[in-house]
Amino acid sequence: MKKKEIFPEKGRSSSSLLEQIPILKEGDAWWELGKVFGFVYYPGNSYARVSEEYYCAYMYENTLNPSTFPSLMDFEKEIVAMAAELMHGDKNVVGNVTTGGTESIFMAMKVAREVAREKSGRQNGFEMVLPETIHPAFLKACDHLSVKAVLVPVGEDKRADPEAIESAINENTILLACSAPCFPYGVVDPIARVAKIAKEHDLLCHVDACMGGFMLPFMEDMGYEIPQFDFRVPGVSSISLDAHKYGYAPKGNSIVLYKDRALRKKQFFVHTEWPGGIFASTTFMGSKSGGPQAGCWAIMKHIGKEGYRKIARDVMTTTKHLMEGINQFETLEIISDPNMSVMAFTSTKGDIFNIGDALEKKGWHLDRLQFPDALHITVTQLNIGKEESFLEDLAEIVKDKARLGKDKKSMSNTVNLAGGLTKILPGALLEKAARKLGGKMSGKGSGKQAALYGISASFSNRKDVKKLVLNLLDGMY
Ligand SMILES: *Cc1c(COP(=O)(O)O)cnc(C)c1O
Repeated sequence: MKKKEIFPEKGRSSSSLLEQIPILKEGDAWWELGKVFGFVYYPGNSYARVSEEYYCAYMYENTLNPSTFPSLMDFEKEIVAMAAELMHGDKNVVGNVTTGGTESIFMAMKVAREVAREKSGRQNGFEMVLPETIHPAFLKACDHLSVKAVLVPVGEDKRADPEAIESAINENTILLACSAPCFPYGVVDPIARVAKIAKEHDLLCHVDACMGGFMLPFMEDMGYEIPQFDFRVPGVSSISLDAHKYGYAPKGNSIVLYKDRALRKKQFFVHTEWPGGIFASTTFMGSKSGGPQAGCWAIMKHIGKEGYRKIARDVMTTTKHLMEGINQFETLEIISDPNMSVMAFTSTKGDIFNIGDALEKKGWHLDRLQFPDALHITVTQLNIGKEESFLEDLAEIVKDKARLGKDKKSMSNTVNLAGGLTKILPGALLEKAARKLGGKMSGKGSGKQAALYGISASFSNRKDVKKLVLNLLDGMY
């Protein structure tokens, strides 16, 4: 067999490459249909064009050196100023644009560690107290920064539990964090209470508004009751908000804000002794395209507050219909009381993941959650107007009792595992993994489900799950 030429000796024609795009995308999620909940935040055709033009116009520019491309630095300053205004920051609030929520959070955690190092005179041994619903980006940051992440259970309503947080504080604690809202359930944590505790213990307090930063302020404008979560809350020292989520900017855009310049200075990195020159960088990244930042600036200017308010209003109308619709089903239950357009629902009878698989067959994509097993919905501009057809499909699936499958108890192990894995792995890979592991394959059901049964059968320990995922990632790339 002739070896396939990966890196062509002779370049391929542009027409052959361009023709290939739709074919390459065939197996990908068709988000344009509005049946994917989350992942893609598209502002709509009427808004998107300008952002795309700006993106392409700055694609080759580099944000690394601000004096080389001053217009890019101006974009950043204005994006930060707009974000600071949204978060009700005073004139002391400063920040930077990053490539995403993960980088924003990483920077704020690094700042906390640097502050702690200076204050304590020691280099390591620090801890952060985090509600268990906090985004894994915090755990990733702790991992990289050698800080211990102390996870604390949340309350009945899935919101952070201030008492539990306070009792987890010790002499090594450097920061408390909260979400506005948390990704799994869309509930805003009691930030005022947690920030007060932080203040009393002389700790930093980070608010993760990656999800809510571009929704909650506009909802508040429209009269929604939103618990205070931003710089109006005494004790809040930094906030992350993602422009590439509800800001509808192209991916690669988030903002990290600090209550003052002294904090932000701890974020910067300077190396003065390099033969390559004095090196300074504001965030984690080195060279990076100016495209995303330019696209972000353009979309924020183009949509404007009025536009964001209108999108938020329509998103919330769709959300309300979806919630009412889901609540109509006796066997389905929305978890807690979401504060915005993010929610999870579970099934009181049968297996919710079977419903998820059936929805997927009808083209709907929902994330899977664990502890408890649930399906996840993030409503965005793309989903507006799709609520009726979603609820019709859901009704058909729920009515079909056979599909609900085995009773919940016997399934729960499988489901928990599936919850973690199906987030990152396509069905085909799961199947392969199951086969490799030699797990029992169930003869019936879709390939995906069968694969899940197989995988779950081979574990009794969550540590093995981690090992499996590591191996799968290694294999995938
Ligand atoms: C998306 C998200 C993050 C992480 O952001 P990325 O842009 O994916 O890196 C952090 N926190 C919350 C609540 C999020 O929803």
